[in-house]
Amino acid sequence: MSDFEGLRALVTGGASGIGRATAELLAERGARVAVLDLDPGTVGAPLLAYRADVTDDPSVRRAVTAAAEDLGGLDVLVNNAGVGAQGTVEDNDDAEWHRVLDVNVLGMVRTTRAALPHLRRSAHAAIVNTCSIAATAGLPQRALYSATKGAVHSLTLAMAADHVREGIRVNCVNPGTVDTPWVGRLLDAADDPAAERAALEARQPTGRLVSAAEVAGAIAYLASPLSGATTGTALAVDGGMQGLRLRPA
Ligand code: NAD
Repeated sequence: MSDFEGLRALVTGGASGIGRATAELLAERGARVAVLDLDPGTVGAPLLAYRADVTDDPSVRRAVTAAAEDLGGLDVLVNNAGVGAQGTVEDNDDAEWHRVLDVNVLGMVRTTRAALPHLRRSAHAAIVNTCSIAATAGLPQRALYSATKGAVHSLTLAMAADHVREGIRVNCVNPGTVDTPWVGRLLDAADDPAAERAALEARQPTGRLVSAAEVAGAIAYLASPLSGATTGTALAVDGGMQGLRLRPA
């Protein structure tokens, strides 16, 4: 029997990058999986796809209700949808702060609120939030993004405490620099994308970027009954960036 046989999972931001790799891995391991995304794009069978914007509460409620109905319940919620932001506190105005906080933090609150009634009926309920090393690393030029991920980290701990007696585990993963379309877009915007990629890789302790599949593996572990005694933790998936106490050069 595989780790996820019979389990039902919903992955937000599951059309691309880390979310897509996670949805595909959970499905390969035996789960029935639904993806919630602003743009489900190429998501197809065996994954179910629901178009929703995590900043729009009615659309989240509709998508989560439909997914739980179509899957026959919900055991796993992966809160992964997120957007990036660059710059210091002087570089982003209030509107940009509200926009990014709305996606990265309130987005998780909305999907969790909608999913909890279904998760309470599961014998193996788990929530995994995609956080970031930015939550605690003090990265330059990432004030707004870091603040949102700091909030995701705190939210993970608070949710873990609130729902532990209901049998709902809540953990997060803290990826480093992951080779996803998001990072691809950042590199494409550079004058010399190949040189920028090489420099980015050279700054990693491992000399390479983390793969989306490696983050998916960590999420899958935290979502599966294999981690049944683990709640309120943050698992680094950063090629040693934080654990080795190394800083980008
Ligand atoms: P990505 O851009 O490849 O995928 C993000 C997905 O989220 C897309 O499918 C997008 O359509 C969806 N999305 C964005 N806004 C949404 C909204 N309002 N409602 C619904 N869906 C929405 O990005 P990725 O690199 O896979 O990032 C996924 C998560 O991982 C994010 O939370 C990000 O902060 C986190 N993360 C990424 C990295 C990295 O280096 N790529 C590092 C640390 C953390």
